[in-house]
Amino acid sequence: MITLDDFLTQGEAVSALIADVRAGRSAHAIALTGMPGVGKRTLARLLACAFLCVGEGKKPCMQCKGCKRVLSGSHPDLLTPSASEKERSVKVDHLREIIHALSLHATEGGSRVVLLNNAERMTPQAQNALLKSLEEPDESTRFILTASGDAGLLPTVRSRCRVVRVPPWPRERIERELIAQGASKENARELSVLSGGSLGLALSMQGDSDFLKLRQLCEGTFFSLRSARDVPEASAKLKDKRDDADEILSVVEQRVREYLLFSMQAGPEPVPAAETRSHESWLAARPRALENVLAAVIDAHRYRASNVAWQAIEEQLLYIISEEILLWQPS
Ligand SMILES: [Zn+2]
Repeated sequence: MITLDDFLTQGEAVSALIADVRAGRSAHAIALTGMPGVGKRTLARLLACAFLCVGEGKKPCMQCKGCKRVLSGSHPDLLTPSASEKERSVKVDHLREIIHALSLHATEGGSRVVLLNNAERMTPQAQNALLKSLEEPDESTRFILTASGDAGLLPTVRSRCRVVRVPPWPRERIERELIAQGASKENARELSVLSGGSLGLALSMQGDSDFLKLRQLCEGTFFSLRSARDVPEASAKLKDKRDDADEILSVVEQRVREYLLFSMQAGPEPVPAAETRSHESWLAARPRALENVLAAVIDAHRYRASNVAWQAIEEQLLYIISEEILLWQPS
């Protein structure tokens, strides 16, 4: 299990926040931002544990009644909106219980925590409904917000929070975590490459072998062409994957974007997976060629939506890749 200590290596802003929370001098409202899968919600829950921990020693102890009830989601002083994860927006209605509870005292007599995940999905009305409590905090209440990007947060809400960006995880760190969770060395390496710094994605891929196979299939086809003559064989591997077509195109799109950013010196060098055979060609490709491929992937998404046969779509995309990306090689 991931602990608060695991986040101490996640950059200065995060470790300073943890130190302040443990020392009891944190801001009354914290907003955790960053790309999906970097652990914002995990960190938020662990901070809630730290606030509500009643154990001895370093907080959170993860053993006491307070910690256990936070982890199981049953702590009476941990307030979260009634909206489900899948709901697109969090409305005032979802906050009624919280707003009512805030007008009363904490039930356990100690602190209480309002945990607002995906706060960028809160409607402006919902955010405004919380503003009063953010503006006039009572001593015992702590707010923790998480948001993927903070574009959805009202400036008035944002300005009342200590905003901490949670950075992507280093590849080695993801690898170590996966091995600790039982992955083999090879799998851990592979998943850490494919996850792009998202521990959440790496862990869900580890638990979902179909998804991992799909990523490996993409690497072994679209990113393994040596010449146009390889297209029929690659196409044959893809043609029965019609049900996974949209997922496949999304995987390819993300990967092409990584190479494109690298070619424009705007991103790190992509790491090849074990299946990747044409990594050198992709690395050497010019931005213009990668843009053409990206446009072709986006077209492919569109053809899918208008019911063009999958086999025709994947085959055409493979040919475009072989034309745009492959270095000239003597046959
Ligand atoms: Zn505890």
